[in-house]
Amino acid sequence: MDPKQTVIAMRSALVNARQTIAEQAEMLDSLTSVALIYCIVVKTGHVSTMKRRPRPDDFKVGTSVKISLEAAHKYEDLPSGVTGKITAPLDRDGEFHIEFPRRGEGYAKPEDLELVDTSELTTKKKTVTICANGQLYEVVHPAELKLKPGTFCMLAPSTMQIVSIAPTVQYGGTALVKQIIDGSFCEVTMDGADKVVFLGSFNKSTLEKGDRVILDPSSIIILKNQKKETKDFSVETEMDVSWNDIGGLEEAKKVMIELVELPHKNPAMFKHYNRKMPKGVLLYGPPGCGKTMLGKATASTLMKIYQGKARSSGFIYIKGPEILNRFVGSSEETVRSIFERARKHKQLYGYPATIFIDEADAILSKRGTGISSDVEKTIVPMFLTEMDGLEDSGAFIILATNRPDILDPAIVRDGRIDRKIKITRPTKQSAEEIFMLNIKDTPISTGCTKQQLAKMAVEGIFNKDNLLYDVEFEGLKPQEGFTLARVCNGAMIANIVDHSISSAMERDIAGETMTGITSDDVKVAVQKIYQENRDVNHSEELEEYAGEIGRKVLKLSKFSGTLNQTSLN
Ligand code: ADP
Repeated sequence: MDPKQTVIAMRSALVNARQTIAEQAEMLDSLTSVALIYCIVVKTGHVSTMKRRPRPDDFKVGTSVKISLEAAHKYEDLPSGVTGKITAPLDRDGEFHIEFPRRGEGYAKPEDLELVDTSELTTKKKTVTICANGQLYEVVHPAELKLKPGTFCMLAPSTMQIVSIAPTVQYGGTALVKQIIDGSFCEVTMDGADKVVFLGSFNKSTLEKGDRVILDPSSIIILKNQKKETKDFSVETEMDVSWNDIGGLEEAKKVMIELVELPHKNPAMFKHYNRKMPKGVLLYGPPGCGKTMLGKATASTLMKIYQGKARSSGFIYIKGPEILNRFVGSSEETVRSIFERARKHKQLYGYPATIFIDEADAILSKRGTGISSDVEKTIVPMFLTEMDGLEDSGAFIILATNRPDILDPAIVRDGRIDRKIKITRPTKQSAEEIFMLNIKDTPISTGCTKQQLAKMAVEGIFNKDNLLYDVEFEGLKPQEGFTLARVCNGAMIANIVDHSISSAMERDIAGETMTGITSDDVKVAVQKIYQENRDVNHSEELEEYAGEIGRKVLKLSKFSGTLNQTSLN
């Protein structure tokens, strides 16, 4: 064989053999290598490591030095740990002369001195604190990877090297933020226990008390902020309701104005006479009679007194049963967050928020009575604590209920919600006022005045023939029965105006005219309202009325007659 050919053949065999060896080595490597593990970055930072020890030429004249703590005993007349300056090169005794400002001077050996500025001797390395298998480690931050708290990574356990960034593979449990401790940590409640966790990539402006957060599987760092669950209570935006927008309720308005305007317009005088500002008020009475309107007027008044701007956070409206609907641990949190929101509002906009709790009996009834549920056992004390913690003008609380008798006495005790205002159903006169307020911006037909329409509506509502039940009260004549007037409220009157507008519009659309509301529209509307009410169960109102007149119900059946049309004319 040609020797040249032989060399070529041997070379090619060698190349093949090398390739096979490389492939087999790779295979062996993959079969025997240890699996990478997931870890999570908890914090980024750096460590300083010593590059070299100090050399004699580091100690120049003018260099800042200290006597080291270990050598302090040798230099009783010189201060240890205090910065001084070398003033001359080494003397014949192998010592430096050092001056300590205001602490004297002296001589010391170089080996007993420490350099104050060690930046020349050390090097800074970027590191990350990671959590792997529930343990914390400080490892090198690979320059090519952008890591931040909360990033999932792959880690080579044998060398503790971060190899790559990984997708989020698993979340841990959820927790509730209790308080932010500092820039790195916060306290959370998880499964009923308190715990301190890393803030991760969050800070005071992106995370706050009451937020629901998702932790990592080892529960040491916050990965996501789900914010507060706000769907369970709404914040009303409408803030410009004045006392004059509320019809009737003269006494209630008077007391409210006194409670809200007097102290907030004259806080200095209140302080001077050491009078406590009212914390809130209890409004009790049937639904639809203007309690929420009084709340909104309160919020609007506070806003005006403090010359604030209308902010939706100024009127915090919550329905008691909605707080109750949440699972136990979180109802308490909801109470806390309501007050927190009021505090925040005051801080941001400079005037107190009005907290309006509708159907307050659902959460604030007597503890341990078992009415609705025993959640009150925890909510009531929490409510009391929050209320007692309110500073003088922190927030104004309005509790609304039609069951004042079942509220926990501690809530309505002196110094807390100690003013109770009864909200009554409209009288003929206030019904007229409410009608006038509701029709004020509505066009009416030329054949009548708004006042006449109001009178007509009220006559219809208070018509004795508009019976809802055939009922006989003890000691009363049968004709003194249970009529539409007994269930009348402001909402019903607003509804009559609304129905009247609908009929006018229907007519105008058909006739292509713009007539405005007529007296017929109002009559039809009252009739509609009466019919609607005959189909509804009014046992609660019946009970309320029987209680009011102090009579027993002897006989009761649904009213079967028809509306007396003539009475409306
Ligand atoms: P409550 O809070 O007592 O259940 P609201 O204040 O929510 O009742 O009243 C419901 C609606 O009824 C109001 O938006 C308003 O249109 C009307 N209304 C009730 N009472 C009055 C009143 N006294 N004056 C004017 N409108 C009223």
